[in-house]
Amino acid sequence: MIIQYLTNNSLQTKRIGKEFAKKILKLPFEKKAAVICLVGDLGGGKTTFLQGFAKGLGIKERILSPSFVIMRKFQIPKIKTQISKFRNFYHIDCYRIKKPKSILDLGFKKIISDPQNIIAIEWANQVQRIIPQEAIWIQFDYLGKNKRKIVIKNG
Ligand code: ADP
Ligand code: MG
Repeated sequence: MIIQYLTNNSLQTKRIGKEFAKKILKLPFEKKAAVICLVGDLGGGKTTFLQGFAKGLGIKERILSPSFVIMRKFQIPKIKTQISKFRNFYHIDCYRIKKPKSILDLGFKKIISDPQNIIAIEWANQVQRIIPQEAIWIQFDYLGKNKRKIVIKNG
């Protein structure tokens, strides 16, 4: 399924991220983690989307562009885990990554095999060959100062 959005400001992009998180929380049980790949222009809104997404997961901590930290782990709070099988949210940014090995060294295989994990990967195209087949892809295009196109491809 493909869903396309046009947004006119960052708040709208955050709202889409937040609604998307609610859908992810309700996914039926699978044997693996939920993997979400965010790709497209620098400044396209990937991190902004994930700020809304984390809010939708009930996470209070701020989501930053992890420029030097490649991966950050967040606990999904109890209020959400009562209605969802997911327990952890991983935010990975591959902007500076040249080789998939950098991610594999962080225990990537184990993280994506745990059905309690949600993993969002910015610049996932940089490590395309280690992304599982079932991943959801989201493309961000910069259309103008405040305009963005967001396309979600699920399956
Ligand atoms: P990326 O992670 O894709 O590089 P960011 O989310 O870090 O992009 O940056 C997007 C920047 O563009 C932010 O400064 C944000 O405030 C701004 N912006 C302006 N309009 C939008 C919009 N419609 N959606 C998302 N971000 C927007
Ligand atoms: Mg970013």
